[in-house]
Amino acid sequence: MATENREIFMVYQPIVDGGTGNIIAYEALVRWNSKKFGLVSPGDFIPYLETTGQITKVGKYILEEVIKSIPVLGKPVHVNVSSKQLFEKNLAEYINHLLMKNKLSSSMLVVEITETQEIPKDSVAIDNLLKLKDFGIGLSLDDFGTGYSNLYTISQLKPKSIKIDIYLIRDIDRDSSKLGVVKAIKDMADNLGINVVAEGVENENIRDILLSIGVNCMQGYFFDKPRKLEEIVGV
Ligand code: C2E
Ligand code: CA
Ligand code: CA
Repeated sequence: MATENREIFMVYQPIVDGGTGNIIAYEALVRWNSKKFGLVSPGDFIPYLETTGQITKVGKYILEEVIKSIPVLGKPVHVNVSSKQLFEKNLAEYINHLLMKNKLSSSMLVVEITETQEIPKDSVAIDNLLKLKDFGIGLSLDDFGTGYSNLYTISQLKPKSIKIDIYLIRDIDRDSSKLGVVKAIKDMADNLGINVVAEGVENENIRDILLSIGVNCMQGYFFDKPRKLEEIVGV
């Protein structure tokens, strides 16, 4: 499990119950420690890999690493899947195969998707997402409220959870209109039976505001930063 010498490796950040601090799940985040450029942000190199088509290979490596981490962490793990990967035929079967190979329940994996490109109706991407659901793998709509995720996608996919983007959470204590939007998202999600996760919780004040409106699942530097597997479990 040692990752020191690898250029590409995963780190894991807990998703917690903000009321108790108990860890509910982890989100896997990729890191690239380039020999040439140093530590490069995934926000920069994932779009590059998508343009060059290398995301297919790297995406498979990420899925393999993340699925292997599940028994080590002992909690469900969320993995980010690029919208380009969603258009690969048999992606859902590949993910399900990896889970079976590792003798893991499909409920231990959650696939996070963010709509950086439109997902057309009846496309390979929708097909993959519906198959993932059929296999019992959770779906989570990431960057909700700022990306292209729309109400149609929610009604069609009925994801297990939506993650409210950092941009809406970060200054919820100072911006009442952002608070209003987050409350409305929470209401809608409650009506649809969808769980809400708030990202980017950086202080106690924001945690308390979220708890007061019933948003209990949280992620952010206030609880913990993303860490390597060996740092979390001491292997
Ligand atoms: P994301 O999926 O929305 O991930 C959340 C980002 O917020 C992560 O940045 C995380 O480190 C950061 N973060 C967590 N807590 C806080 C906080 O309290 N405050 C602030 N300001 N930031 C916080 P990171 O790791 O740089 O990832 C950036 C984006 O790159 C991710 O956004 C995701 O879209 C993409 N990404 C990361 N790993 C993967 C991956 O394995 N595959 C794919 N396809 N995309 C990935
Ligand atoms: Ca994510
Ligand atoms: Ca996000």
